Amino acid sequence: LALLLKDIHRVVTMDKQRRILEDTSILVDNGAIVDVGPYSELLRTRKVDEVIEGKDRVAIPGLIDVHGHSTQSALRGVFDEIPLMPWLTVMAEAESRMSEELLKIGIQLSFMEKLHSGVTTSVDMEGCVDLVAAVAPPMGTRLVLAGILSDTEEVPYSGLKRTSSVDDEVKKAGTWYEKYNSTCDGRLSFWFGPVGFPASSPELLRASAAEARRIGARLHTHAAEGWITPELCKRKHGMREVELLEEVGFLGPDVLLAHCVQLAKREVYLISKYRSAVAHCPSSNSKLGHGVTPVTQLLWQSVPVGIGTDGAASNNSQDMFVEMKMAAMIQKAILRNACVMPARTVLEMATIRGAEAIGMADKIGSIEVGKRADIALIGCRKPHMIPTSRIESHLVYNCSGRDVDTAMVDGKTIVREGRLLGMDEESFLERANGKITEFLESRR
Ligand SMILES: [Zn+2]
Repeated sequence: LALLLKDIHRVVTMDKQRRILEDTSILVDNGAIVDVGPYSELLRTRKVDEVIEGKDRVAIPGLIDVHGHSTQSALRGVFDEIPLMPWLTVMAEAESRMSEELLKIGIQLSFMEKLHSGVTTSVDMEGCVDLVAAVAPPMGTRLVLAGILSDTEEVPYSGLKRTSSVDDEVKKAGTWYEKYNSTCDGRLSFWFGPVGFPASSPELLRASAAEARRIGARLHTHAAEGWITPELCKRKHGMREVELLEEVGFLGPDVLLAHCVQLAKREVYLISKYRSAVAHCPSSNSKLGHGVTPVTQLLWQSVPVGIGTDGAASNNSQDMFVEMKMAAMIQKAILRNACVMPARTVLEMATIRGAEAIGMADKIGSIEVGKRADIALIGCRKPHMIPTSRIESHLVYNCSGRDVDTAMVDGKTIVREGRLLGMDEESFLERANGKITEFLESRR
């Protein structure tokens, strides 16, 4: 099926030259972008099945959210103002009591919010892999599903208690990979997601990396998230978290590290040396009181850094526009330097650099001929979007996800005029609210 996005006021391409095209049309065929240019010059021979008017709109590449936990949207606003270690404890307790139905509601809420706000690709790290795979891809999103592997838990005095065997965890991941990787017409990828220190032992990190590389899967883990975990890691293993990842052979160009807030200089060097990527989650890191990721240092060392919302229990928004603004602001504030993290760089992190961080830059992250048609449209006849000649700035500093009115993945329209197609949103939200409220009341 061919689709035409006609006469778009501004197309923010994020191509190599970072061109912004005026009054431009985009022709999509079979899920791919086949032509970009003035309407009068487009491939006129092709029969078009659907036309979307772009006159008062800006087109951007669909945003890429490189770290999250979708089930947490069922616990939004429940565990505010709690630091990381007790937060992990209360989260684990709540999650252990959540029914399958409630987990599904969380997943649906997350992807509704993401798609509405122009996020077309997400990295979701979850233990309930079968549920996420059953619920999210049918909603139309592109998804990297990182299956959580965990074999230890932290007990007082920085001891670690074994909760599962390394072999069982690695075998489980292999089975998930076979079942889900490269399915849903290529929209679903499966990665190994050992959750990270202290919930993953060095043996698990070593074995999961080896097995993932043997079968060609990529790897995602948490590293140096809180200010407490590097201390625990030093006490337990005599080194910092990223040093431990190097020690066990985990680091590599196929690795995405979430957070990386508390990094020593040597750890920045190691991430760069092994060409691993980083998922920067500025709101979550701020809200849990962790500090600020040294993003500017990572970028100077050519580390691909993408932006992630993280779960709704620690952010609590899933809006990537908020994350872009946060990412820009906190670097400027902490470095007392208005020149760092310009809007262009931040926009790159949410699109093309995010695509690089997850190894998909040949497929998504920019509006260019040959790429998949993952595109978001934003209405620009609004006071906060004027003048539209400064659109990159507005996208980072002024926009919110609520400005997005259209989102498509693989050329398939998923959100149109602010409505998620194929879903009765009102009745779902009413049911979700009822079920979550009931769950929270039962915990009293
Ligand atoms: Zn996380």
